[in-house]
Amino acid sequence: SRLTASQIQRHKASLPKNFSDYESIKHDFNPQIPEYFNFARDVMDKWAEKEKVGQRAATPALWWVNDRKQEIQWSFEELGFHSRKLANVLSGLCQLNMRDRLFLILPRIPEWWLVNIACLRTGTVLLPGTSQLTARDILHRLQTSGAKCIITDESIAPLVEDVASQCPSLQSKILVSNRNRDGWRNLGDLMNNVASDHECVETRSDDPMTIFFTSGTTGLPKMTQHNLTSCLVSTWRYWLDLTDQDVLWNTSDTGWAKSAWSSVYAPWIQGACVFIHHMPRFDSSTVLTTLSSYPISTFCTAPTAYRMGRVTETSFLFCVRYKFKSLQHCLCAGEPINPEVMKKWREATGLDIYEGYGQTETVLVAATFKGMKIKPGSFGKASPAYDVQVVDDDGAVLPRGEEGNLAIRVKPLKPFSLFTEYTGDPVKTEECYRGDFYLTGDRGVMDEDGYLWFVGRADDVILSAGYRIGPFEVENALIEHEAVAESAVVGSPDPIRGEVVKAFVVLTPEYRSHDKEQLVKDLKTHVKKMTSPYKYPRKVEFVEQLPKTISGKIRRVELRKREWGQI
Ligand code: ATP
Ligand code: MG
Repeated sequence: SRLTASQIQRHKASLPKNFSDYESIKHDFNPQIPEYFNFARDVMDKWAEKEKVGQRAATPALWWVNDRKQEIQWSFEELGFHSRKLANVLSGLCQLNMRDRLFLILPRIPEWWLVNIACLRTGTVLLPGTSQLTARDILHRLQTSGAKCIITDESIAPLVEDVASQCPSLQSKILVSNRNRDGWRNLGDLMNNVASDHECVETRSDDPMTIFFTSGTTGLPKMTQHNLTSCLVSTWRYWLDLTDQDVLWNTSDTGWAKSAWSSVYAPWIQGACVFIHHMPRFDSSTVLTTLSSYPISTFCTAPTAYRMGRVTETSFLFCVRYKFKSLQHCLCAGEPINPEVMKKWREATGLDIYEGYGQTETVLVAATFKGMKIKPGSFGKASPAYDVQVVDDDGAVLPRGEEGNLAIRVKPLKPFSLFTEYTGDPVKTEECYRGDFYLTGDRGVMDEDGYLWFVGRADDVILSAGYRIGPFEVENALIEHEAVAESAVVGSPDPIRGEVVKAFVVLTPEYRSHDKEQLVKDLKTHVKKMTSPYKYPRKVEFVEQLPKTISGKIRRVELRKREWGQI
């Protein structure tokens, strides 16, 4: 009794969307933080009740597919049923008490979502990790977190076995697999033998919910703790613009905070359907085919994915090949998106890309919310949950137009959706605060209209002959040249200027065999034309690929270290 794509589409057409401009969003934002709150009981189970009495669209709550055309659709009721069983496994067989920690390493399979909800039911603190962790990473995370239980699959199990003897807190190892394995309990078997009724524990809003790991773009990933209040930050709905009719596909890996916010809390708070494609590897043609085969209304991915997308094909070819019948709203976050990439996407699809800026520590800090005017190159305005300012290194607010630290005001009241601490690292936690502000570690500018412009991570800003140069602006200029597929700009040592701008450039296929000396000249001239001439890259190096984090973010720090002979 599922809706077909065209039925969903017909249903959606008559829907009013949420908000039309920034002022109405700010006016609307009025979060209520109850003393006690449990997302599973107060959100998920409420939607299940609405489903029962026909007050929710008949879209699934979770819609999972893989590249072998297997498919699972679960309603809120079904998610409730399975996750209550899993909760009984956690609190019964695994003897996890409230606040105990559980390490979860699974790819994008439905069990990942069930564990998320089960942990909310039992008050277990969830630590999600990406499947690309090494045994050393796993050891470090198990030891620093003191996790009592790990749930993972067969690809990771041997790595856990290598290090488990060094992790005295680890009591239960649970495997998600069709097969059994010595020393592990099988999740499917366990769930077959427990009851499906479970009463949610009474969690306070300020109880710990999750410990995320940051992406590790600048150094070792940091363990970042959030309380349950963080998932109440409803600013998502102004950005994702979801209703219970929408089908949201967010592509992030399950190991990152973005997956929790955009593939669990934000869509389900709105009653929307979470769509998941279990792609073993990111593949742009699979993405495009999926967008044209399923009734996905809302698509959120990393800028790197939009860059990889075949939007460099002529718009005409692209439109002939792919028809996104249901797609209405596209979003990106995690890295700055180049205006040129937005332009190409719009030419090919007719849709704009709405950018969000956030951190593991903060959830969404600023965004171009649906209904707002898009200023390409700016990620938009402050989320209504935060007072975002540009401040100097002492925490003093700078005038509009001046570059400084992107910061969030934390006094007199600390915003409820900010992280509580870097687990086990009070010194690092303390270092984030300056005066009345939390410093994001990013540099930016606020313009006269309150739009924020990203300059670069504080460490990535280049100081050359007295000028401060943000890599993002130079990269934006470079990518407008048709020879450039992507680039990373860093400072490189120079005897006279201290440092100079150096661009590492990945060429588009058509330009790979071109004369390199001529290309270097062309690119320099091009950048001089597009930005202030002093920003042009005095050095250019062509590379096959750029160093990136597992989540696809460019690691400029690695290139910089190479330039300065530090690795
Ligand atoms: P680590 O803190 O471990 O070095 P990370 O900062 O990349 O890694 P995340 O918390 O996943 O870890 O990413 C947050 C950072 O990503 C932001 O501080 C910012 O530098 C960058 N970022 C996110 N969204 C945007 C955006 N729209 N524009 C520019 N930068 C962005
Ligand atoms: Mg960071």
